[in-house]
Amino acid sequence: MENITVGLNERSYPIYIGTSQHYGELVRKALPKITDLMVVTNDTVGPLYFDSLKKQLEESGFKVCQCVLKDGEAYKTIDSFWAIQTALLENNFARDSAIVALGGGVVGDMAGFAAATYQRGIPFIQIPTTLLAMVDSSVGGKTAINHPLGKNMIGAFYQPKAVIADLETLKTLPKRELTAGLGEVVKTAIIYDADFFSYLEKNIEKVFDYDLEVIAWIVKCCCQIKASVVSEDEKEHGLRAILNYGHTFGHAIEAFLGFGTWLHGEAVGLGMVIASALAKKRGLISESDDRKMLELCRKALLPTKIPENMTADDFIKHMRHDKKVRQGTIRYVLPTSIGKVEIFSDVSDEEIKNLINCLK
Ligand code: NAD
Ligand code: MG
Repeated sequence: MENITVGLNERSYPIYIGTSQHYGELVRKALPKITDLMVVTNDTVGPLYFDSLKKQLEESGFKVCQCVLKDGEAYKTIDSFWAIQTALLENNFARDSAIVALGGGVVGDMAGFAAATYQRGIPFIQIPTTLLAMVDSSVGGKTAINHPLGKNMIGAFYQPKAVIADLETLKTLPKRELTAGLGEVVKTAIIYDADFFSYLEKNIEKVFDYDLEVIAWIVKCCCQIKASVVSEDEKEHGLRAILNYGHTFGHAIEAFLGFGTWLHGEAVGLGMVIASALAKKRGLISESDDRKMLELCRKALLPTKIPENMTADDFIKHMRHDKKVRQGTIRYVLPTSIGKVEIFSDVSDEEIKNLINCLK
């Protein structure tokens, strides 16, 4: 089992990555004084993993309750958030209690936000069960629910006490969800680590065979990189923006197609292909680096073609609506080599139009 630390002074916490871990012992270590645990999960993941988790937690002396939400991004709402608070109150949870998030990023984000706000904050533990949640959403302390007017618009920065990634849980995850997770994996390599990128070129396809050695290495590298970015810039004042590589174009694709048509990681995959093509056009990276990045996205089974009916104007329109747009300027994260990105605010709409028309 691997153990990484997210270094945030008194809010530092461990990430455990492995198989057949004893949840009870790890949770007890992270929460020595807690008696009651509310496991927040959904109606897909709960039936698969709750019973064995409960047993292990009870063996370590916890009293365990369950709050089961409906599965899906459509339920990342104030109603689900409220259901968690109600479950906590009905079970008389006080400040000696904690929340355990068992599921993907949707459950993790909601459970984390509930923990941040219940009685002004109770501890929480992340048990991510999707690749995306293991490599991305469970690390970094962003928690949120959606508002009808915008995704993740209501939330808080709130760090967990520990993250426990049991790779065995990925065996029940649909292949398409693995691909979506790989979108964020490929992103992580491109923004930060050329050696990790080379490793992925050789090994990424083994993820689809559930090669746990490869998956463990991938999760570890991603957590380490995200941990170091977050340690340096917890609340997104600067460096953390590089994690948005591929996301400006990606969000436009998600918004144009209707959220949920493509999975987020799939849209980020194509977003990276477009960003890399822009970097090549600007002379920031070589033709061969651009090709390598495209090839890696293909190996991860990510989409690499712009949707037929999506025009350059559609991209511009949706990118202007992105929450990350500051004073009308779209900030593009572009690679300057494999393993390094920079932020550019001088890309004109004309340049984007030419680019999209060339790629279509
Ligand atoms: P998800 O939580 O919806 O999970 C995807 C699907 O897989 C769901 O149907 C889920 O029930 C199912 N599932 C989960 N684990 C399973 C397992 N082991 N076996 C079988 N099925 C399983 O989606 P996700 O991709 O994990 O997360 C996406 C969410 O994460 C979005 O809401 C996004 O906003 C958020 N997010 C947050 C951050 C952050 O920093 N907090 C970062 C990235 C994404
Ligand atoms: Mg993302």
